[in-house]
Amino acid sequence: MHNHNGASPDVVVIGGGVIGLTVAWRAACAGLLVTVFERGRPGGETSHVAAGMLAPISEASPAELVVLALGLRSAATYHEFVAELAQASGQDPGYLRCGTLALARDADEAEALERELEMRRGLELEVRRLLPSAARRMEPALAPTIRLALEVPDDHAVDPRRLTAALAQAVERAGGVVRAGAEVAEVKLEEERVAGVVLCGGERVLARRVVVAAGPWSGQLAGLPPAAQLPIRPVKGQILRLHDPAGPGLIRHILRMAGGYIVPRGDGRYVLGATMEERGFDTTVTAGAVYELLRDAIELVPGFSELQIDECSAGLRPGTPDGAPAIGPGAVPGLHWATGHHRNGVLLAPLTAELVVSALLGESPSDELASVAPTRFAPAGVDAR
Ligand SMILES: Cc1cc2nc3c(=O)[nH]c(=O)nc-3n(C[C@H](O)[C@H](O)[C@H](O)COP(=O)(O)OP(=O)(O)OC[C@H]3O[C@@H](n4cnc5c(N)ncnc54)[C@H](O)[C@@H]3O)c2cc1C
Repeated sequence: MHNHNGASPDVVVIGGGVIGLTVAWRAACAGLLVTVFERGRPGGETSHVAAGMLAPISEASPAELVVLALGLRSAATYHEFVAELAQASGQDPGYLRCGTLALARDADEAEALERELEMRRGLELEVRRLLPSAARRMEPALAPTIRLALEVPDDHAVDPRRLTAALAQAVERAGGVVRAGAEVAEVKLEEERVAGVVLCGGERVLARRVVVAAGPWSGQLAGLPPAAQLPIRPVKGQILRLHDPAGPGLIRHILRMAGGYIVPRGDGRYVLGATMEERGFDTTVTAGAVYELLRDAIELVPGFSELQIDECSAGLRPGTPDGAPAIGPGAVPGLHWATGHHRNGVLLAPLTAELVVSALLGESPSDELASVAPTRFAPAGVDAR
């Protein structure tokens, strides 16, 4: 079905990644008529590549306290969110309560891990210091050379591919429309407010509210005045997918080491990531990156060398100048943003949807919304209209 029985949507969402789909599902549940325009396949871009860690504590940094606060809030609701989604979609979103071990392989890394421990304790986050023997009791496949480990019991994971498939189904079951292969060419303004979108091919869709959730491409939409645009940039990440022909059980926790991580799916499949590269819109996979990721993983878990490689890919994280996402109303009436989630879009999807839907419904803005206001990037002295 391509429309709401002929009615114009209340809300158009540009982009059917994890963010756009979650916003659309929650908006449809709140009674709004929603259409998502996705130029490719729903969940087919950055969200397809993501590892799916829900790791606000492991990712915590004193320089990004806004991201930490949002991440903790979103993580606390995740269990409920996926349970509700499973019910609504009839599909399993692949949530795994696995916890995380951060590992040091030598004295320098152990020293760095001690500093990480202090920093997290200073922020009152739940982290436990483990001796190598205790870590190896928890994960017998770890190399005997491990020097130190930190246990982060509350950082879990979800399978982003299952999650987006379930979300697309849930949107439609809630009365929303997801149009795949439909690229938005332009946001249409009339009398200085949002009036709808124009698709490539010329079709015009009227809507008084438009949510931009176009991931790393969010800064490239035509039709908006320059001062209403956002400075979103792509941050490349290369990542591998492997499986154990012997079945599940080699690793049960997320393992993090300097420069990477291994995420178990619980069924013998593993994700090994990831690089962080500033290379524009380049998604090539390079020999050097694959080599380094595999080398580090095999050093940490020697049994990893027996795994079979299923996929090597690269995705583009939507980055902002200050590292925090851009969520909520923009500089033009009717324009809303849900983007800039960088390394944490899967984690932040439920909270983002909650904040965007509350703004769409015209509820009074929360303090949280102020900390991620897209208008913080407006160049000083420029009128957005
Ligand atoms: C290697 C890697 C590992 C990661 N690991 C994690 C992790 O463990 N945990 C975590 O929380 N996050 C992780 N992330 C980050 C996460 O993937 C992103 O923050 C998240 O996927 C962003 O979702 P999105 O919906 O904004 O973007 P996308 O998934 O890219 O969705 C945007 C969509 O918009 C569509 N689009 C763009 N322009 C248009 C247009 N004009 N018209 C119609 N459609 C359009 C695109 O086709 C795309 O499908 C990782 C990212 C990478 C690259």
